[in-house]
Amino acid sequence: MFDDLRELYQEVILDHSKHPRNFRHPDDANHEAHGYNPLCGDTLNVYLKMGHNGLIEDAAFEGKGCAISLASASMMTEIITGKTETEAKVLFDGFQKLVKGEEATIDAGDDTERLMVLAGVKEFPMRVKCATLAWHAMSSAMDGEEEASTE
Ligand code: ZN
Repeated sequence: MFDDLRELYQEVILDHSKHPRNFRHPDDANHEAHGYNPLCGDTLNVYLKMGHNGLIEDAAFEGKGCAISLASASMMTEIITGKTETEAKVLFDGFQKLVKGEEATIDAGDDTERLMVLAGVKEFPMRVKCATLAWHAMSSAMDGEEEASTE
């Protein structure tokens, strides 16, 4: 990774893990799922409020985990709020490819750069499941499954 990107990566992870956004359990959430990453011990719940036409009106999470899992969950909740279920899944798909080192283009509007920075976790293969845990939980929640698998 280039030094600039590495610095930005550490800055973003540190900021979001120390001050997670949307770290709460909304009363009106109508979808939720639990995600557990046995490799690291990260455990978190993702809460979604899905509105008409699959619009994600609110996204939040609670849980415990390493800096990367918390930072990723924090950024994810910010990025997917206001998007549709389909848009969120397309982003997850692209993000997952990037962290696995595969080619993918992602378009998250203003959030694209931040998501690319987060995808820098591909430099640390042991941490990839930390970074994708919240996304798996989000996807499971939308599908009505209570437990998310990182496989
Ligand atoms: Zn972790």
